[in-house]
Amino acid sequence: MNKKKQIFDVIVYILMFLLVFGFLIYAGRFNAFGKFVGSMEFKTFDIRQNLILPHKENNKDIVIIAVDDPSYEYITEKFGTWPVPRSFWAKLIKGLEVANPKFIAFDLLFTKRLGALDEGDLKLIQAVKDNQNVYLSMNFDNYPSTIRLAPQLPEGLEVNLKNGNIIKNSPFLHFSNCRKAMDELLDVTSNFGFINVTRDDDGIIRYIAPMFYYKDAYYPNLTTAIAIKYLNIDPNSLYVKDNTLYLDNSHKIPLNPDGRATINWYGREGTFEHIGLWQVDDAINRGDIKFLKEKFENKVIYIGTTVTALADIKSTPVSFMYPGVETHATFLNNILDNNFIIHSSFRADIIIAALLCFLIGFFILKLDSVPYSILCSVAIVVAYLIFTVLAMEYFNLWLGIILPLFSATLIFIAAYITKYLLKSKDYEHTYKLAVTDGLTEMYNHRYFQEQMIMNVGNVARYGGNFSLILIDIDFFKKFNDKHGHQSGDAVLRQVAQTIKRNVRTSDIPCRYGGEEMSVILTNTKKEDAITTAKKIWNAIRERKFELADGNWANVTISVGVATMPDNGNNPQELIEFADKCLYKAKQNGRDQVVSDID
Ligand code: GH3
Ligand code: MG
Ligand code: MG
Repeated sequence: MNKKKQIFDVIVYILMFLLVFGFLIYAGRFNAFGKFVGSMEFKTFDIRQNLILPHKENNKDIVIIAVDDPSYEYITEKFGTWPVPRSFWAKLIKGLEVANPKFIAFDLLFTKRLGALDEGDLKLIQAVKDNQNVYLSMNFDNYPSTIRLAPQLPEGLEVNLKNGNIIKNSPFLHFSNCRKAMDELLDVTSNFGFINVTRDDDGIIRYIAPMFYYKDAYYPNLTTAIAIKYLNIDPNSLYVKDNTLYLDNSHKIPLNPDGRATINWYGREGTFEHIGLWQVDDAINRGDIKFLKEKFENKVIYIGTTVTALADIKSTPVSFMYPGVETHATFLNNILDNNFIIHSSFRADIIIAALLCFLIGFFILKLDSVPYSILCSVAIVVAYLIFTVLAMEYFNLWLGIILPLFSATLIFIAAYITKYLLKSKDYEHTYKLAVTDGLTEMYNHRYFQEQMIMNVGNVARYGGNFSLILIDIDFFKKFNDKHGHQSGDAVLRQVAQTIKRNVRTSDIPCRYGGEEMSVILTNTKKEDAITTAKKIWNAIRERKFELADGNWANVTISVGVATMPDNGNNPQELIEFADKCLYKAKQNGRDQVVSDID
């Protein structure tokens, strides 16, 4: 019995498991469900990034010259307008040279101008030509050729990427048009990179594209281009393998299936040192070499706007006011530290979900105490959540939370439902055992007494009648002596069957004790009870009973009948009356039904 029950439990458990995962896989086919899970998962990523932020250290060699609010004031004061004349940038490049920075990267676009080049353009072109550490930006887009003919980009800008299909096939990274820099700049330098960013549905930047595809060639992100030079990498030796972009053997960028990399954030805005453009210009004007060297010697400088008026402010997991230019700094920091986030695969998430569900289901089904099993489930979930934070902090792993949590919740509910179904089945079984007589499978004496009280109560309250039949087998002692106790038992069982067959389903056949049996007939008048009694009496007389040795024998019964209210108004009186009838029947020669004692 116990073994059977255990097997049953396991089967229910497996079914429950299959149900939950069947549902998940079914739901997974719907885009909306995937989007829902995805957007929630994004939020868990953001929370984890913020939690581990205090333990991260950014690269202090990456700094930002920021067109911040004071600089914007300074510029509009001096030049009356933004953008500034390009001679301003030429002067900045020349001025920074004394500090000998590693790179000067412009997160600003110098696009072509209508008409002839002005003096500022010429100065900028000359400055860029003279300084091969200056990097400039361009932007891809998908404008139709009716708006702008897709320009051919000069050779030398592209990189040779082996096995780059993941980028070529990505809807985020494959572009059909380009906002080109002014041709005269392209003539003097190949230090160009692209600064496209992509946002998720909630407007937040979590991914960055290290590489783009345009007109049959691969082009680097501005920062990828700088990293290639910084790390002295041959731009023709890049390759993609196992969803990873290898810059060289020790610098790799793990890619998501859409070819983008997941950024690991180092801090909120201002984590990378911001030096206001006005301060730099002022220092250059004053010839403050000490300041310039202190701030910029050997540094990678990103120049970009942080002023809110120029709208290059992004939302990121760690801040809703993150300057676009600082995203580039973060990206470079990730490349130099090999610190990108690696996203666990969908399959891994499903395995984790299954594991959690197994544990939670196991504890709920096995632990009898409800508070304990809830505590265990919560502990498992909390332990997993802590584990995901640690996995992100120490292994850069983005383990799925929503899918495992969602399945764990479903299992939690399913396990409780199952548990209570099993419990109520158990209860039914126990109850049946408690009110049944083992030998005859009739109701037992205790149940008989309960039902007597109930029926007396009903008739007392609502009126009507109910009857009681008492049955005693004649000369049963002798029968036992003659045929043996085993045959006696067999006869008892068969008498019980015969009684059951001859009463209505609303009647309650019980074993009163020994070889005495009783039937409670609800809502039954005396005459009807006598009819039933005679029916039973006759059926026993008419049939033969099989004995333990295979022989057959006859028995007879004596029957007493009592009815409420005719013969009594409580169980004792009724039983006494029926007993007296029975006694009278025995006195009168047995094998008869007696319903009156006068
Ligand atoms: P009568 O009722 O006709 O006056 O005679 P009797 O022999 O049936 O009366 P009595 O009440 O003295 O004996 C009842 C006998 O029923 C005693 C016992 O041997 C037998 N008996 C009681 N319970 C069981 C049982 O569970 N199995 C078997 N085999 N016999 C039982
Ligand atoms: Mg007896
Ligand atoms: Mg008897």
